[in-house]
Order: sequence, then structure tokens, then C-alpha cells
Amino acid sequence: MDSPIQSLHHVTATVDDAQQDLDFCIDALGLRLVKKTVNFDNHLVFHFYYGDEHGTPGTIWTTFPYKGYGVPVGTKGAGQVAVTSFSVPAGALDWWRARLTALGASVQDAPPRFGEESILFADPSGLQFELVANDRDRRAPWTREVGAATAIRGLHSVTMTIAHPAKTIEFMTSLLGFRVVGEMAGRTRLAVNGDEPGKTMEIVHAPDAPRARNGLGTVHHVAMAVPHAGDQLRMREEVLRWGASVTEVRDRQYFQSIYFREPGGVLFEIATMAPGFAVDEAPASLGRDLKLPPWEEPNRSMIEAGLDAVAYR
Ligand code: ZN
Repeated sequence: MDSPIQSLHHVTATVDDAQQDLDFCIDALGLRLVKKTVNFDNHLVFHFYYGDEHGTPGTIWTTFPYKGYGVPVGTKGAGQVAVTSFSVPAGALDWWRARLTALGASVQDAPPRFGEESILFADPSGLQFELVANDRDRRAPWTREVGAATAIRGLHSVTMTIAHPAKTIEFMTSLLGFRVVGEMAGRTRLAVNGDEPGKTMEIVHAPDAPRARNGLGTVHHVAMAVPHAGDQLRMREEVLRWGASVTEVRDRQYFQSIYFREPGGVLFEIATMAPGFAVDEAPASLGRDLKLPPWEEPNRSMIEAGLDAVAYR
């Protein structure tokens, strides 16, 4: 089935300390901060968007640093994105292993799967990250911190922990247009619109896993990219026909979004590719200033006074 979904759009997590998050994502991973704004559902908390030079859909990692708001550490388990994987060039893993180890991360070799090697490590909040080496990624990297031979190209995939995968796989294939492109013991890989990095999602079959609970150090949701608002509305109708509940279209300033839970419990978002991060900031200075959506501008001084001071280059 043809799907309007082009690729992943972004992955969003709840993290602990804002400064630690900036240091890790910008300095260690070498991502570009493409937007500093606030959580549109809670303007007391930052929302950081990281990605390639432009924040191209499929390269974006976003965080809500919730330190100091009494949010408990999340429970890892079923119904959750367990691992967020980024794509790096074949041959880059030795360099990354040395870099991350030197920065104090504990790096593990993941068992090879589907013909690709990878390493696993955690961010300062305990989120599980993976770097997957491959020679199939044509995306241009952001190279201010990390050279082109090794830099992250964008998202590779996410791995979801699902207790009973059959319904999730049916939902993703029949309704979202994914197809199963790989299977091994206890794991299924699905892809949409091709199978290059940024277009795949994996399911780990975990019948005995505890139910996940969102909190510090867990992924909140994964978003998929569609070109047009009309595609989003059509998919919204299909999700409703399936019987799942789905939000109204929400204005996220840099894209429009709908949210729903797949049958295994993971929160999915369908996000438009436009207008993108240059809508309120010059491309050369993305991420420099605190940007607020028009409806929050009247509250700017109150919002700025409540946010942690953060520094980054
Ligand atoms: Zn989102």
C-alpha cells in the first residue's frame, strides 16, 4: 500500500537537566540545536529540538527537560520506545566508541542485526541511544562538532518494546503503510516508503515486560512525517475508523500534529513536514534565541524568568 508517510519525523523524550541535555546533544553527539522553545502544553518547561543543519524531518531528536518539577523517573517497559537509533557511516563506530567512552559513557556493542553493526549507550537521563553503522545513508550531516566521516546523519530507527506485537504489526502495515522487512527471534523490523535509515521501526517482542510509564529518562512519543495537511487529515479519519482515539490537529508552530496510541500502547504522532524551523528564525541562527509561538508571546517575560539559565555555543 502506498503511504503518505515519508519517514520518521522526530522522537521526543522527557529528560532531567536542561544544561546536561544541551551539552550531551550538541557537544557529545554533534547535533545542531535547531530550536529553543517551550513545551506548548506546559510553558514552564523548555522544548529543545536537535537535528541536522535545517532540522530536516527524520533527523530530529527533541527533549523536555523536566528537572525540578517533581516528575518521577519513568518505568521502562512495554508500550514504549526503548531505544532511539541514529545513523552513522560504516566504519565510524570505533571513533564513536572512543569518543563516548572518553566522555564517561558506558558503551556496549549491540549484537549485529539485519546486517548492520551498532553500539549502545545512555544519555545523562538514562535514555538508551544507539549508533547504527551503514553505507546507505545519503543525508548530509551537520559537521560543526563532528567531522563528515563520522557525524550522525539523522535518525536510523526506533525500537519499541511491545507485549503482543501482532496487533501493532497489523496496525502499522494495514493503516500506516509500513511493511515487514526483517524478522529474527523476538524482533521484527518494519519500514515505510523504502527502507533507508530514517524509515524503519523495530519491535522487540516482550510478553513479560512490565507496563511502561512515562517519566524522566523515557521516550514520550515517536512522530512520522507526511508532506501535506490533507494527508494528515486522511490518516486521522483512518485511525478513527480503526477505532483508536486521536487528537484534533494541533499547531506546533514548526509542523502540525495529531497523536494517537497504536494497539501496543506507544504514542504515535503524524507531523507535517512544513513549515519547518526557519519559519521564525534565520537559518544561520537556528536555536540561538528563545522562540515562542504567537499565543505565548504576551507571556514572554514571565516565561523567561521561570526558565533555567542555559549556555551553549
Ligand atoms: Zn512530537
